[in-house]
Amino acid sequence: MTNFLNFIDGEFVAGAGEAYPNHFPTTGEVIGEVRAADAAQVDAAVGAARAALKGPWGRLSVPDRVVLLRKLAAGINARFDDFLAAEIRDTGKPRSLASHIDIPRGAANFDVFADQILADHTETFRMATPDGRGALNYALRTPRGVIGVVCPWNLPLLLMTWKVAPALACGNTVVVKPSEETPATAALLGEVMNDVGIPRGVYNVVQGQGGGSAGEFLTRHPGVDGITFTGETTTGEAIMAAAAKGVRPVSLELGGKNAGIVFDDADVTKTLEGLGRACFANTGQVCLGTERLYVQRGVFDEIAEGLAKSARGYRMGDPFDAATTLGPVISERQRAKVMSYYDRARSEGAEILAGGAAPALQGYEGGYWVEPTVWTGLPETSGVVTEEIFGPCTHICPFDDEEEGLALVNDSPYGLATTIWTENLTRAHRAAEAIEVGISWINCWFLRDLRTPFGGSKQSGIGREGGVHSMEFYSELRNVCVKL
Ligand code: NAD
Repeated sequence: MTNFLNFIDGEFVAGAGEAYPNHFPTTGEVIGEVRAADAAQVDAAVGAARAALKGPWGRLSVPDRVVLLRKLAAGINARFDDFLAAEIRDTGKPRSLASHIDIPRGAANFDVFADQILADHTETFRMATPDGRGALNYALRTPRGVIGVVCPWNLPLLLMTWKVAPALACGNTVVVKPSEETPATAALLGEVMNDVGIPRGVYNVVQGQGGGSAGEFLTRHPGVDGITFTGETTTGEAIMAAAAKGVRPVSLELGGKNAGIVFDDADVTKTLEGLGRACFANTGQVCLGTERLYVQRGVFDEIAEGLAKSARGYRMGDPFDAATTLGPVISERQRAKVMSYYDRARSEGAEILAGGAAPALQGYEGGYWVEPTVWTGLPETSGVVTEEIFGPCTHICPFDDEEEGLALVNDSPYGLATTIWTENLTRAHRAAEAIEVGISWINCWFLRDLRTPFGGSKQSGIGREGGVHSMEFYSELRNVCVKL
């Protein structure tokens, strides 16, 4: 049994708030206890973060900060196996996935934003004045202050350092609220912070739930200067309301109901390889995943059959076994949510091409398993087709021409990502411009260059992170005007 602690002002402390069990999703067994931070401890964490801004951290030069960021990346990699085991036990995700995505990317974020801040530059403008001597304007990039970082459970370390790394690169301090489902790697990162010499108070972790708990205490705290959040759209609304008090800026990376589109001229083999991942990777718990798929009629049967085969090809089981390719969903609650959509699809008359149920896995009966699932035949108005499920499932629907296909894709209040499959590049560019999302992939999915703008349109978010866009959120530009 592990006790998941808070990390406040450089020290690990037991929470004085509510206690709740931490489950291993693979078996459902209780493997630890989380003791949430209470309001006073959240206040202490914010206070420590404020104090650290005025301490040695606040006086570090950019190159010295960069040295520490690189040490953080190296420090995570030096304890790769510890981070990997912690992430797998929190999420049940297969080692094959976490060792290629979660932990390496979790570390790489610190190197990426070290490079970014080193390359940073600001504008200068020489202006004319009536006396003819002129004036010079230049912008100073300054940290925002204390950043509240509220994280989801689907890619815990990766999504947390995606925010913490640029925040620290810009000279801020942070208070992180990991998901109640995945407390482990945020706490473990506290050890690395101390090991590499990050001053106390720069990185703090408060454990707990959202509303009425550490998440709300943090986002309502007047000592927090900006809030960065990844999670559900409804939670984003609550956080935006909390941030309105004190006019604090927010960066919101929210939910979606992403659609993919496949045209008749797509390379079917490449398409099926990409879609197999887009629909089922990480058990469908990827914000960028495809839960609606529109396929032009000429290749519909081939794609539908191929995707169903791909769904049936995943191997579920022990996440530490190299042969396992699919884990459970995160929790009993999430399993119940996904299963409610599986039941709904069946009762609404969907044709089930693959899956559609909870598998019976010998030895893992208590785990939160669901089958990768492909449906067709539901009306576009069905909740299964319009609401985010966040499970390993997709609904596939035929279309006849480009205009109809693109209209179907855009018929959603969300707009995070799309994946477009065609060998006609003119059409691909046209489709990418027409689809109302923040991220379009053409003949690929989840190919990420971390310098590119990342974020959602419509109800999928506010703001862009990545590269220079992260710098814009995690710092404030101050203009200085010098009369010559
Ligand atoms: P969630 O919104 O339930 O929880 C996210 C975090 O917010 C948790 O730490 C939770 O404790 C906290 N929280 C909940 N209510 C709060 C409140 N009132 N005040 C402050 N904090 C609160 O999301 P989740 O279930 O953990 O994650 C899944 C969701 O995240 C999906 O909707 C998915 O699409 C989205 N997501 C989006 C992206 C993106 O980049 N757009 C990436 C990953 C996940």
